[in-house]
Parts: sequence; C-alpha cells; structure tokens
Amino acid sequence: MAKSPAFETNLIHAGQKPDPTERSRGVAIHRTSSFVFNSAKQAADLFGLRELGNIYTRLGNPTTGILEDRITVLEGGAASVAVASGTAAIFNTIITIAKQGDHIVSASNLYGGTYTQFDAILPDFGITTTFVDVTNPANFEKAIQPNTKLIYVESQGNPALDVADFDAIAAIAKKHKLPFVVDATFTTPVLFKAIEHGANIVINSLTKWIGGHGTAIGGIVTDAGNFDWTDPKFEQFNRPDKNYHGLRWAHDLPAPLKPIAFALRFRTVPLRNLGASLSPDSAWIFLQGLETLNLRVLRHSENTLKVAEWLEKHSKVAWVRYPGLKKDPTHKVASKYLKNGFGGVVVFGVKSGRAGGEKFIDSLKLFSHLANVGDAKSLALHPASTSHSQLTEEQQKAGGLPPELVRLSIGLENIDDILADLDQALAAT
Ligand SMILES: *Cc1c(COP(=O)(O)O)cnc(C)c1O
Repeated sequence: MAKSPAFETNLIHAGQKPDPTERSRGVAIHRTSSFVFNSAKQAADLFGLRELGNIYTRLGNPTTGILEDRITVLEGGAASVAVASGTAAIFNTIITIAKQGDHIVSASNLYGGTYTQFDAILPDFGITTTFVDVTNPANFEKAIQPNTKLIYVESQGNPALDVADFDAIAAIAKKHKLPFVVDATFTTPVLFKAIEHGANIVINSLTKWIGGHGTAIGGIVTDAGNFDWTDPKFEQFNRPDKNYHGLRWAHDLPAPLKPIAFALRFRTVPLRNLGASLSPDSAWIFLQGLETLNLRVLRHSENTLKVAEWLEKHSKVAWVRYPGLKKDPTHKVASKYLKNGFGGVVVFGVKSGRAGGEKFIDSLKLFSHLANVGDAKSLALHPASTSHSQLTEEQQKAGGLPPELVRLSIGLENIDDILADLDQALAAT
C-alpha cells in the first residue's frame, strides 16, 4: 500500500498485525501481569527507556498497546496512553503538567466529574482553575496568569453542547506557549480531529461512543507530539525528575522520543506510580468498538438530528439545544469544525419545567434512564438531579444547565421507534 490507509481502514487495522507466533487474526487478550525479560541487559534497557517494551501491565500491555497505537493513528497524534477511565485520563494529564501553585484556564461547560475535579479536588493539591464562558475565545486570554500551565476545553460542552472556536483558542494557547488540551469524547475522531485544530493533547473517554455498547470503562490520552516543553515554566519537564533517576523530560530523551515527552512522562510517572491502568480485557472491548465506530457515529448523528428537529416542533417542548439545528446558537461554529455530523446527544426542556422533565423520564419505555452516553441503546438523564447535582445552582447555570434540562443520548434503534417512545413520554408531561 503506497498511499496511507483511509480513516475507515485504520479503525479496523491500525496498530495490529496477525499474531506472528499463534497466527490469530483477532486481537489476542494478554491476561498477564508481567513479561519475561530476555536478559539482565534488556531488563535494564527497558527500565532505562533505552528500549521501549513490555515490563508490567500497570505500565503497558500488548493488547492495550494496539488500542493505543490505533487511537494515535485515528487522532493523527504521536503517542497515546490508555488508562482506567476518562476521568483518570484527565487527572493524570493535569498532574503530568501542573503541580502545587499552578493554574488552569478551562471552559466552564464541562462534564460534571471534570468540573468537580477542577473545582473541588485539584485546589486541595494547590492547582486552581479559572472557568470561562467558552463561546467567547477572548475570555481564555483574559484569564491567563503567570502560573497558568494549560488551557482546557471539551469538543462539545457538557451538557449544553456548545462548540468552542478551537482555532481561536488554539492561537491564544500558542501565543502564550501553553498546551491546549481538548476532551474530544463527544465527537470522537469521526466528527472532529482536535489535533488538526491546534490541540496538543487529546483526551477521549473510551466508555462512550468508542466502546459504543455501555460495557466497559476506560480513557485514553493522545500526545500530538507538537508541544515544546523546554520553557522553564514547565518545571516537571525541566528539572531533574526524582521519579526517573534525574531525567529532564524536555532535554534528556533521545531525539526520536523528544516529541512524546508528555506521553512518556504520563506513562512512567503518574500511571506507573499512581496506577490507574486499563485492564487488557477492557482494551479488547474498545478495539472491538472502534471497528464499527464510523458507521455508528454517523447513524447516531443522523438519528439525533431527526430527534432534535422533531422535538423543536413538538407542542410540549419549550426549547431544544443541538449543534445541528440551524437556529442553535452554536450551529455556525459547529458547522466549521464538525463536518460529518453533530453528534449523538440532544438536550431539551419541557414546557412544564423540572417536574415535567422528571415525569417525562419516568414515562420512557424504550429509552433507559441512566448516567451514560454513547451506547447503541437510547438513554435519558436529568443532569441537575444526577450527574451535575454536586454543583451549586449558580455553577449549574454558568455551565448552561437549567433545572428542567433533559439529556438524551440517541441510540441506533429504528428512528420511528425512538420518536414513538419520546412522543408517548411527552404526552404524559
Ligand atoms: C464520560 C465523560 C468523561 C469521564 O469518562 P469516564 O470514562 O466515565 O471516567 C469525561 N469527559 C466527558 C466529556 C465524558 O462524557
């Protein structure tokens, strides 16, 4: 193959060759904690990063390695590290870059768990966050302080689905020599490739559309390999690292590894020593999911657009937010970045308010009432009383979350069955 394979082909093949010893075509699950060294010298080389290879599954595993290599190709990055959850991917990303006394500038419209992590957990470790309204990129620049270490956004804000002007925010990050971190869970590389729009680090919760069937928890971080860590303000990359026999990550790595200093430090410092590793069984589930990701995400988007347009016309519905709707405040920006569809989640409010929303959810039959998105099955949730209930009413408002908001993750069922279920549940409100 002279030409590099297309995206759909990479979803199925990237990172994997048939097993050379056993000839198995499917990805083998390596259920092992540890790997036998060839020699004392090889063991020392592996620990010294002079050779990259298998040591212990907390640090890496061949099954998980295929998943990491495949996501790297799909995102157009340089290296990826898979971990036990999307949440762990976020936390380990932050502490790979920032420490006590440092600061983050983040969009305010975040996944509930991420907001809590930034707002209520990181401050106990001396890392503070300024939350800004994502719809005006200038807000990010205004919030930058001398101790700011990264800029953070989601590809579709959770739960109001606002889409950021990535190019504008990336330009600000670049100007201030800050890494631009994008949580791209809601779009997946099918709809949006964050690295093409200036992201230096991309995070995906594998739990959602990539897994695609609501059967496993996992997360992954992709290093674009395009950030220069030699600026002394990134202390963890410039001082001799006690965690790794005095290595200075921005300076001492052999040339081919220098661009992936972030991914290497992520794996060998927080993952190795704090231990949020992914099970190879779960990695296998995500590889299975990736094979059909393109087909599924396109159908999720198609079904969701139909639901959004249908809700917009429904007499019991007060408002609908979906970036694919022409009237949506985020539609213009979303159309610039999301070329293959607008994703699988739609949010709306019923005219009868919070009580009506609860009645609606209790009346659903085909939809499952649960806290997840990205399943083949249609799902519904009332975030204000569940996923975002740790936030104050003020914080909920700032994150674009009115009390009546209902979130739907539209599945792959026949659209007529989806609409019929929504119709009978709306009738009950
Ligand atoms: C679900 C989700 C997470 C957290 O991922 P887990 O795998 O559940 O830990 C982070 N960000 C976004 C946007 C999510 O949807």
